[in-house]
Amino acid sequence: METTPTCCDSSVATYSRRTALGLTLGAAGVGALSGLGLLAAPLVTHAAALTKEQRDKLTPDQVIEMLQAGNERFRTGKMEAHDYLAQKQATAGGQFPAAAILSCIDSRAPAEIILDARIGDTFNARIAGNIANDDLLGSLEFACAAAGAKLVLVMGHTACGAVKGAIDGVELGHLTGLLSKIKPAVAATKYTGDRTGANAAFVDEVAKTNVLRTVDTIRQQSSILSGLEKDGKIKIVGSMYHLVGGRVEFVA
Ligand SMILES: [Zn+2]
Repeated sequence: METTPTCCDSSVATYSRRTALGLTLGAAGVGALSGLGLLAAPLVTHAAALTKEQRDKLTPDQVIEMLQAGNERFRTGKMEAHDYLAQKQATAGGQFPAAAILSCIDSRAPAEIILDARIGDTFNARIAGNIANDDLLGSLEFACAAAGAKLVLVMGHTACGAVKGAIDGVELGHLTGLLSKIKPAVAATKYTGDRTGANAAFVDEVAKTNVLRTVDTIRQQSSILSGLEKDGKIKIVGSMYHLVGGRVEFVA
């Protein structure tokens, strides 16, 4: 019986595979292809999935550049022609994602799409208001400390309903407790003017504060992730996705 790898499959640390091109490209090879214009965005295009070798050679800053390049393709309507069947096949035996993304559940902010990422490129955790709790910290620790991701990207977005709900004091079942984790960002946001959910500019400022607070929470509550960052093995960064225009703005 064929085994089905899971996110926690032990093979993630050791499995190696070939790209869809039939090549296992080292950094030099990728660089050469890039120099020839064959890889518009090195390590992302023209292969079905990252290999372990490729991923392990990436620095956190290179992963940021990779995601920024993907967002630029998305923003300008030049996304890859994704062959999801090939990507599925290339990743079925193991995964070597470069980043772990913590973002909101908003239907308009799907991280893989707006960063033009492939199957296998990124771990994705989504929760209303992109807050961090123990379970999400555990997920991010798995992504980086066990599975080798080089970047934690917290991504908030404009016009966030969860942030608006926190500002307006919405109470609804289990949502009340979730919004209580966003409320400190409301008080911490310096803003002169209409501080209600009816003011889109204030909502977006609180969303940005909330991203910065989530980045701080990750550093303060996960000694594993903060330790990896101090050692230069990962970076923990924050960003805001702009629904209008489609840009992912790195804010921390
Ligand atoms: Zn949201």
